[in-house]
Amino acid sequence: MRLVLLGAPGAGKGTQAKKLIEKYRIPQISTGDILRKAVADGTPLGKEAKSYMDSGGLVPDSVVIGLVKERLAQDDCKTGYILDGFPRTTPQAEELDNVLSGMNSPLDVALSVDVDKDDLMKRLTGRRTCRGCQQMYNIHFSAPKKDGVCDKCGGELYQRDDDQEDTIRNRLDVYEKSTAPLIDYYESKGILKSVKGKGSIDDIFNQIVSILGA
Ligand code: AMP
Repeated sequence: MRLVLLGAPGAGKGTQAKKLIEKYRIPQISTGDILRKAVADGTPLGKEAKSYMDSGGLVPDSVVIGLVKERLAQDDCKTGYILDGFPRTTPQAEELDNVLSGMNSPLDVALSVDVDKDDLMKRLTGRRTCRGCQQMYNIHFSAPKKDGVCDKCGGELYQRDDDQEDTIRNRLDVYEKSTAPLIDYYESKGILKSVKGKGSIDDIFNQIVSILGA
């Protein structure tokens, strides 16, 4: 299955992707994770991307498209993948379509996870991630048993630099302007499906599975 997850920052794409990869045994390709790793490793790519990311803006299309092309060419993507956080602009979506039609393997589904703006703010400001295993928590909705410590691996939980309030506002504005139009883009291609991102993580996951099939 070749799947794109669409949705505003904080809609829960990453959380659902982590559950979907276990169920469907296909890799998650998160451009945000790839870029954060490049920043942490201090690579030339990371140095270029950091200022865009810190302000909540988008890294240039050419950079991100290059990363995704490289990743899609790897063997583990042959049986499918979940794209999480890509595409985020119309040029990225068009280029993805070009690349995939060249590989004769078009997308199956673009799944939009829809969440109200007020809820998004709360989710993003409360978000914490484990440095060790990347498990995500939310101090408002799904707090770890012990403050600041990952339930799964005991790792330290941190708040992403771009989850500060003013950066979040910018990220939500960027989403509205650049990424939300992709909902119409995929609708016009006839592959758009939507779920309401309300309720528990498991409820939303079950809705997604019923759309995608067992
Ligand atoms: P995310 O973890 O998906 O919220 O991504 C974190 C940040 O990485 C974004 O705010 C952007 O600065 C950058 N980023 C991730 N994916 C993309 C993309 N497809 N296009 C441009 N920038 C991206």
